[in-house]
Amino acid sequence: MKMQVTEIAKAVQAVNAAQVWPDVNVTGVAFDSRHLTAGDLFVPLTGANDGHDYIQSAIDHGAVATLWATDHTDSAPSELPVILVPDTLTALQQLGQYYLQKINPKVVAVTGSNGKTTTKDMIASVLSTQFNVTKTHANFNNQIGVPITLLSMEPNTEVVVVEMGMDHFGELDFLSNLVQPDVAVITMVGEAHIEFFGTRDKIADAKMEIVHGLKADGTFIYNGDEPLLQTRAKEVTQRQRTFGLNADNTLSASAIETSRATTSFTASLWPESPFTIPMMGAYNVNNAMAALLVADTFHVREKPAQQALAKFVPTENRTEWLTGHNGEAILSDVYNSNPTAAKRVLAAFAATPVTGQRIVVLGDMLELGAQADQLHASLASELNPETIQSVYLNGEHMQALATDLAAKYPATAIHYYPTHEQPQLINDLKQAVTADDEVLLKGSHGIHLENVLAALEA
Ligand code: ATP
Ligand code: MG
Repeated sequence: MKMQVTEIAKAVQAVNAAQVWPDVNVTGVAFDSRHLTAGDLFVPLTGANDGHDYIQSAIDHGAVATLWATDHTDSAPSELPVILVPDTLTALQQLGQYYLQKINPKVVAVTGSNGKTTTKDMIASVLSTQFNVTKTHANFNNQIGVPITLLSMEPNTEVVVVEMGMDHFGELDFLSNLVQPDVAVITMVGEAHIEFFGTRDKIADAKMEIVHGLKADGTFIYNGDEPLLQTRAKEVTQRQRTFGLNADNTLSASAIETSRATTSFTASLWPESPFTIPMMGAYNVNNAMAALLVADTFHVREKPAQQALAKFVPTENRTEWLTGHNGEAILSDVYNSNPTAAKRVLAAFAATPVTGQRIVVLGDMLELGAQADQLHASLASELNPETIQSVYLNGEHMQALATDLAAKYPATAIHYYPTHEQPQLINDLKQAVTADDEVLLKGSHGIHLENVLAALEA
């Protein structure tokens, strides 16, 4: 971006906006002084740390101006223009919105319990065949990440694809109103963060906030296989299009075929052009269909979309095939877990070709509140001795799944370790795994299955 400090001071309604500002060009924003590059505006945010304490580091990295909270006036620096505001986060959001209105691209907003980043990347990939596209970097999807995304747009941006995450009511309402999307996408409704919501109904209510800022002539694209969204969509007055496996959706998929590295399918609107994506997991078909509906909304034809999806490179592919020390194939998904994602990945894993045994290591799924044990036990539906021969469970809540599995698995196939016994799990697992086996690792970040991964790879 390129803005003058005078313009920024006005856009954020700085309390000192009326003063005479020097001619200074700002070419970016940064809230972490370590990642600031020369020409940036520094945005000190107050969280666990107070960003104002890092102003010297920001100056050393080349900050040319800074936002500054009025309650920190005493410590304001004298080396660079200081834009005084009551609240620096609010100012960052105002600045993002101002810049969005100035560049005026079409806006695509993407939310959902799972698949946001993948879908966002797929949408950007298919739209890039015809437009200058800016998308959310990595997973920058919250009240800070969204304005940062807006401020990262090149002036020639024609479409911006914005990932939006949330774990409380009101967050998507705010973000949707901030960006006023032309297209709003909900990938699916799962159980992530149910601790804060209580029920999937409430999670669906919170996801629906993404249409609160949807333009009157905008389009709402959602997973039509989800009854919780179907009923709520009846209240939405904007144009609607749905995707899913059921044939009554605007776009549905058939002939889904998966391998370790790719997934292919036929999409109902274009039966002559089968699609292939370079990712495993049938759940990615839904993400791809959402992207194809966005492409169609922007009049991108199926051929360029097909080519874009075929060579699409996910920025954050959390399912990664690696090779272990014993020669075993490891499907690593240690970054995060929740019940729906875990079930989808288990189903995908169970369908991959293997000569030896399929072994899964599942870690606790966090933030599930009072329903945690029941939701952990629910993974039993995706675990069967015919396809997955051996199960290692790590964490307090996984005990509930261990108990459930006792009914269909031999006792020797179920291995349970409370959190503190992870070293024992690693020992047992390393002895059990052979070169012909496949091992899936999935758990919430807090369970640190990356330790198990490191041990298998060592
Ligand atoms: P986060 O909330 O961490 O930002 P996200 O919604 O951006 O996650 P992705 O990064 O796209 O999601 O995918 C994360 C994991 O979610 C995948 O590895 C897979 O396990 C699961 N997943 C992805 N898409 C779907 C889907 N459509 N339905 C169910 N599970 C999915
Ligand atoms: Mg994400």
